[in-house]
Amino acid sequence: MKFHIMTLFPEMIINAMQVSITGRAIKAGHIQVDAVNIRDYAGNKHNRVDDYPYGGGAGMVMQAEPVYRCFQDIKKHRISVEDPKVIYLSPQGRVFSQDAAKEYAAEEELVFLCGHYEGIDERVLEEIVTDYVSIGDYVLTGGELPALVMMDAISRLVPGVLNNDISAQTESFSGSLLEYPQYTRPEEWMGKKVPQVLLSGNHKLLAEWYRQQSVIRTAQRRPDLLEKAELTEQEQDLVKSMEGARRDTSVNGRS
Ligand code: SAM
Repeated sequence: MKFHIMTLFPEMIINAMQVSITGRAIKAGHIQVDAVNIRDYAGNKHNRVDDYPYGGGAGMVMQAEPVYRCFQDIKKHRISVEDPKVIYLSPQGRVFSQDAAKEYAAEEELVFLCGHYEGIDERVLEEIVTDYVSIGDYVLTGGELPALVMMDAISRLVPGVLNNDISAQTESFSGSLLEYPQYTRPEEWMGKKVPQVLLSGNHKLLAEWYRQQSVIRTAQRRPDLLEKAELTEQEQDLVKSMEGARRDTSVNGRS
């Protein structure tokens, strides 16, 4: 997977991607990160890429031409796929998810466009962007952090990036359930013991426990996800009994 990032702050992208798992993945050649500075395409002696918005209003807007030139350069010299997906990070986009990460991980190369200030001139967005993606319903100062969030989530799904590919399959959101709780040594900490089943070495019991804990955790923390999950009858009963218990507690709590 090769990521091309159009940004005013390439060092922010490079510094963050060079550490930990993504850093190792870059060294091993599983992913490549090509951060391109939009300012290099400003075409004026002060390298200015923003201007006042037509119609007035607060802040500045990134101009169309430098962004367009930057993209043309990527297309001509830095990318090998014909029609890459060009993702504009925007609070107005479709909200990013694990399913979207899976879709993007199937691509060979991706282009990210990071906005700043009040955003980017609409005309160049119409010209080059294929996907508008938000990382959540809040407004950040720039698109670099959202691009990093996306690249991190996508990289983990690229074959070879995680030492243990199984972990990506059992993690939260895979199969619409959250992951079960995790424990490591020591066996007892502050009087709290690791659940006995985890020490049993019995794979069948372990698999049943993981699944049950995933259902319980999802019902407790993200019940909205259960609508899409495929649950056995027994699991549905478990969820209902938890809902019943919650109702009882809240009624008792009020009385
Ligand atoms: N004026 C824009 C609006 O109201 O939609 C917000 C501009 S924001 C201050 C500057 C840049 O940060 C955006 O162009 C976008 O690239 C990025 N950004 C901010 N919040 C984001 C979010 N939740 N998801 C993805 N990108 C975001």
